[in-house]
Amino acid sequence: MKFQPNKNGYYGQFGGAFIPELLYPNVKELEDNYLTILESVAFQTEYKDLLQHYVGRPSPLYLAKRLSEKYGATIYLKREDLNHTGAHKVNNTIGQILVAKHLGKTKIIAETGAGQHGVATATVCALMNLECTVFMGEVDIKRQAPNVARMKMLGAKVVAATSGSKTLKDATNEAIRYWIQNPETYYLIGSVVGPHPYPDMVARLQAVISKEMKAQLKMQTGNENPDTIIACVGGGSNAAGAFYHYLENENVELIAVEAAGLGVHSGESAATSQLGEVGVIHGSKTILMQDEYGQIVEPYSISAGLDYPGVGPLHAFLHETKRAKFMNATDKEALKAAYELTKIEGIIPALESAHALAVLPKIKFKKDQVVVVNLSGRGDKDLETYINHLEK
Ligand SMILES: *Cc1c(COP(=O)(O)O)cnc(C)c1O
Repeated sequence: MKFQPNKNGYYGQFGGAFIPELLYPNVKELEDNYLTILESVAFQTEYKDLLQHYVGRPSPLYLAKRLSEKYGATIYLKREDLNHTGAHKVNNTIGQILVAKHLGKTKIIAETGAGQHGVATATVCALMNLECTVFMGEVDIKRQAPNVARMKMLGAKVVAATSGSKTLKDATNEAIRYWIQNPETYYLIGSVVGPHPYPDMVARLQAVISKEMKAQLKMQTGNENPDTIIACVGGGSNAAGAFYHYLENENVELIAVEAAGLGVHSGESAATSQLGEVGVIHGSKTILMQDEYGQIVEPYSISAGLDYPGVGPLHAFLHETKRAKFMNATDKEALKAAYELTKIEGIIPALESAHALAVLPKIKFKKDQVVVVNLSGRGDKDLETYINHLEK
């Protein structure tokens, strides 16, 4: 299994657990127990029940006829936008909250950039009656007021990170500092990033996406394998979930789409695979955007969910081994794709998901090529951006 991590959490040279010594017991506790918990009947029963009745899974696999016609391929959309809370993130938070409960934890911490992961975490904490503290950069708190309000209404405490650039990486630093001081808490990470075992655990929880895809494709086309899967990559969790059960099948082409912001080389971008170098971020060895002194370069994208300076270690490995093809889309291209999907299919996608759609015009499809685009989230949260960029 080439694309599974080894027992130390390495995918090739990427991964591992680069953590302060004081966190070692916490991470070790999780590492020693996560697989047993995830594979237990008790966990599986509750996880599946909540995915079905609370989240609304399975999410539909929708044949987008007009989109297909336009691009000369058979294009399906995996509708993660229809999940409760509006994106794929809840697949992970539901799973991890159950892991936390199995470990006997009663307090949850998380960090969030745009607030989407914070909302998904606050949601499951409300559901499970667990205390929730979300760390968020002071700048992001101002930029993402509606999500801050949601988290508060859900009963979470939102703590402002006031150091550095007052954005996601500073919120992460605060969360880790708090975790060191309060080792009884459970740190709920929102993507396939962080020290081992988080990337593997989150990938396994999001893998429900490709598991359903296989069954749905089999039903709808007679073949469980598509030719191509396209997904956007911030940290990489929705892509990891959409790729997971196809990783070892090299006949299925995997396309990861990063945000190019104003252009890959404009200085305002988040295209990590193009601009990044090997380094350590958030507790794992991966590729990240850094300057000559190893300082993290602030990423930029119109879409807050893709505005992350690294990618998870699995994606660094998929890039290095060329198992996945990495493409990118600019702000402008993503906006155009969002408008297009809205007008021809009546679906307003999240800006993140619009990046995945934005590569359709850049690919030369064969007739009858079966393509699945993972529609990671819905666009309600992005309406203000869409309205400000209304197509004339
Ligand atoms: C957070 C988010 C992403 C990016 O995160 P990944 O971990 O890369 O999946 C993509 N789409 C939506 C809708 C999001 O909310």
